[in-house]
Amino acid sequence: MDDGSEITSALRAAGYSAWLVGGCVRDLLLGVPPKDYDVATSARPADIARLFPHAIPVGAHFGVMLVDGVEVATYRTDGAYADGRRPESIQYETNPAADAQRRDFTINGLFLNPVTGEILDFVNGRADLAAGIIRAIGDPVARFAEDHLRMLRAVRFAARLNFQLDPATLAAVDPIAIRKISAERVFAELTRILTDGNAHRGLELLDQSGLLAELLPEIKAMQGVAQPPEYHPEGDVWVHTLGMLKLLGSAEPALAWGVLLHDVGKPVTQTFSDRIRFNGHDRVGSEMARVILSRLRASSDLIEHVQYLVADHMRFPELPKMKPSTLKRFLRAEHFRSLLALHRLDCLGGGGRLGTYEFAQHQLANLAPDELRPVPLATGRDVLALGVPAGPRVGSLIRSLEEAQLNGELSTRDEALAWLTQQVSAPTST
Ligand code: ATP
Ligand code: MG
Repeated sequence: MDDGSEITSALRAAGYSAWLVGGCVRDLLLGVPPKDYDVATSARPADIARLFPHAIPVGAHFGVMLVDGVEVATYRTDGAYADGRRPESIQYETNPAADAQRRDFTINGLFLNPVTGEILDFVNGRADLAAGIIRAIGDPVARFAEDHLRMLRAVRFAARLNFQLDPATLAAVDPIAIRKISAERVFAELTRILTDGNAHRGLELLDQSGLLAELLPEIKAMQGVAQPPEYHPEGDVWVHTLGMLKLLGSAEPALAWGVLLHDVGKPVTQTFSDRIRFNGHDRVGSEMARVILSRLRASSDLIEHVQYLVADHMRFPELPKMKPSTLKRFLRAEHFRSLLALHRLDCLGGGGRLGTYEFAQHQLANLAPDELRPVPLATGRDVLALGVPAGPRVGSLIRSLEEAQLNGELSTRDEALAWLTQQVSAPTST
């Protein structure tokens, strides 16, 4: 990927105006490596195509060209926004000043000549960058009404950069309006808020802006839900979850959502008997996670992964008492590494010690792959050969056989066949 200097130089040499713009300028000025580079230019798409014959037009956007991995877009102003999502038309412009006005936040509205270091600042973006402020360009109410997704982008940038939201920009958030944005786009923004490295701030800002109650009422409900102080000296369910998010750093989406949702079942399962209890919150929470993530149109892989994290996060205390077969099956689960990471955060974000975490790590380090997943001593075909009719009993016998093998009760094929013969002849063993 070009860092924009060759592309802007080539455009300038051909007589056009061209600048790096947006997020990459913001990141460069902050000393952060940009994820991607955007170029804005007076050249029209056809001019860009002539200059860079290998340029690829980028789908949904009007006349944006991809050149060596860099998005090159003609200066433009947006037409009317009818649906709160995107402009109905755009108009090409010849100068960057007009282009700056359509961008979302002042820190995203700066232009940079990567060769000379010259900066164009039509929106006072440099001052906000230095002061750490996310401020809408122009009237924040109007800007959020044009494109409601900007409300979540404001939270995301404030969280990730650890900036303040300008009070007028924060006050302009209209949580109800977010309903017009597709679940997929909301999910993508929320996921970035959770995974970009400062998720607890993101959650606090979502809460302050009213977006949390609108988008994730089940998470809002964790506030004020008291926990037994002997296990959770840090405070209520919300405080505990935020504490874990604070320790999370940048993370994979499934782990981040798992942390956010691991105790989501607590508000609805809270009882006060001998002490505050949340019986079954793991099972209830896992179902709630499915409902929430389906509502947000998350992929079924992610939903399954997160449901596993929520459902199994309370199994660690049993760990030292597990039979070898149960322990091995627990440890070899597809996403056990992320469950273990969640458990660690759960301990560090609460009053828990890392004893079972270290125990699990130790077991994982000491169990050879063929102890965790031994080659089967017998197969379904052996069971059928013993006269068991095809059906569910075959699978359950194989599973019991594996259990005995994992427990070290059987280690050869002869032993396995003898064991199976005995099971099959026993009256109603399985
Ligand atoms: P990052 O890529 O790190 O998330 P970014 O600022 O580069 O942040 P992009 O979504 O890549 O964000 O967009 C590039 C630039 O396009 C932004 O910096 C901003 O100037 C402009 N932009 C993007 N989305 C919007 C929007 N919804 N409304 C107005 N301007 C936008
Ligand atoms: Mg970008």
